Amino acid sequence: MRKPFIAGNWKMNTDAAGASALAAGLAKALAGVTTVDVAVCPPFVYLQRVAEALAGSTIRLGAQDVYFEDNGAFTGEISCAMLKDVCCTYVIVGHSERRHVIGETDALINKKVAAVIASGLQPILCAGELLEEREAGKTESVVAGQIRKGLAGITAEQMAAVTIAYEPVWAIGTGRTATAAQAQEVHAMIRELLGEMYNERVAAQTRIQYGGSAKPSNTAELMANADVDGLLVGGAGLKVDDFAAMIKTVA
Ligand code: PEP
Repeated sequence: MRKPFIAGNWKMNTDAAGASALAAGLAKALAGVTTVDVAVCPPFVYLQRVAEALAGSTIRLGAQDVYFEDNGAFTGEISCAMLKDVCCTYVIVGHSERRHVIGETDALINKKVAAVIASGLQPILCAGELLEEREAGKTESVVAGQIRKGLAGITAEQMAAVTIAYEPVWAIGTGRTATAAQAQEVHAMIRELLGEMYNERVAAQTRIQYGGSAKPSNTAELMANADVDGLLVGGAGLKVDDFAAMIKTVA
């Protein structure tokens, strides 16, 4: 049985005081929730203070990105060891904003996934199609291609650490959510793909989150799908009441 997993991606939002207040508010609002795995992914510079605000709570800490090298002359980058140092459990890898705004390639994303797993951290590997790709009937080939390339060289055993997030790019931050049926269709395809790439056990155990304008009002409908195991939440994750409501709906 897959335990639901809801993560908040704060992106390049909050400030020092706001990050601490949001984390403390969530820790208080979600005290006692044990049936859903919950994580928040603040900007790098606030990880430490958010870790402090979450101390004693069951909410885990995640980073929004990482670099694959251990250390050295990589100006501006952050290593897995640094993220572990500040108590991270998860790392988002291959978010659509990093793919399409920053220009990350599948090859780079694959190196990051491998480094994250090797370090003992757990990657949330994002995949999703652009609107024009969906309209051209390419959703399956785009998403499957991103997942195959992102997981190249990752073993069935290592897959125990991996969460996949299906995030249709046209639904991210747009207020336009995929319908429950659209989400389920792609999630089922991803699970079948994992069965082909690995085996039935990996397909059955891997958690697949949906992301793209998820909010309190559509959480129940999205989560009612057999293959939707959680949510990766942007905008609604920045409000204590909204994020807590989504988690309580699932709990
Ligand atoms: C995201 O950033 O991964 C995301 C899904 O954003 P939003 O919920 O705002 O669409």
